[in-house]
Amino acid sequence: MTAHTTHSGIQVTDSNDFLQRFLLERAQVRGVLVRLEQSWRQVRERANYPASVRAPLAKTLAASALLTGNIKFEGSLSIQLKSRGPLTLLFAECSHDGRVRGLARWQDEPPADFRLTDGLEPLLAVTIENATSGQRYQGLVPVEDADLAVLFERYFERSEQLPTRIVLAADDTRCAGLMLQQLPAESGDEVDADAWNRVGILLRTLTPDELLTLSAEQLLLRLFHEESVRMYPSRPLSFGCRCSRERVAGMLHSLGRAEAAGAVREDGAAEITCEFCNTRYRFDIIDLEHLFRSGYGAPEVPTAH
Ligand SMILES: [Zn+2]
Repeated sequence: MTAHTTHSGIQVTDSNDFLQRFLLERAQVRGVLVRLEQSWRQVRERANYPASVRAPLAKTLAASALLTGNIKFEGSLSIQLKSRGPLTLLFAECSHDGRVRGLARWQDEPPADFRLTDGLEPLLAVTIENATSGQRYQGLVPVEDADLAVLFERYFERSEQLPTRIVLAADDTRCAGLMLQQLPAESGDEVDADAWNRVGILLRTLTPDELLTLSAEQLLLRLFHEESVRMYPSRPLSFGCRCSRERVAGMLHSLGRAEAAGAVREDGAAEITCEFCNTRYRFDIIDLEHLFRSGYGAPEVPTAH
């Protein structure tokens, strides 16, 4: 991928953290390609994840960015896979401006051959929060298939009624995803009935290694060279956390005075560490007293009054 200028005039340099939208003009299929390298490293370095947790976390992270590719929104899209064990939580989030974060929790280390369907009562939720309107949309997907890509295909088929194909891949340095969606035929259009099958067959020839390593241009032209590939300006993706002292204060305030006081250690302060970015927030007795006495009037804190 070469450096290029986006419509807003920003130079985007060669990077392995990007979101690339494209159109297969001949087949009338739209697509998104996502790859994460540095941001995935920043996510996995925050905790000592076993390999059986790392792989699904990487794919969930790639999917969170992939799912933002074709929607217009201002806010964040998050994916949560919860179960009663052993993998209790997979969480990944991508904001409209391409900031990703994620984490996983587990009880007993899932075995190397662990499959998502082996989890106890697993449930997948995709949530889109619109920061400007405050609206929230949530789609639930039953975990009836161990392949995360298949679960996200079902999510799109339910929520948008659009035939969708998704491929996800991950290794210890990168994670990536490719999504194809059949555009609805406009009235009067000649429908190429075979096109969707054709691109699906081409997609099946893509290897995980190609998805993780080839440049966007090489990958799309190699795979779909007969389908008239049109590439849109790529968007950079990066690791980013939305935590702040105000949000942590709001969380402490919502716990109530007694529980917040319980978190105070011998040195007279409570320290809260953000699980996404490891930033530490320290609140001493005076901070806490002020928080509960004044109600902490920070505008970001919904519980303050
Ligand atoms: Zn954070």
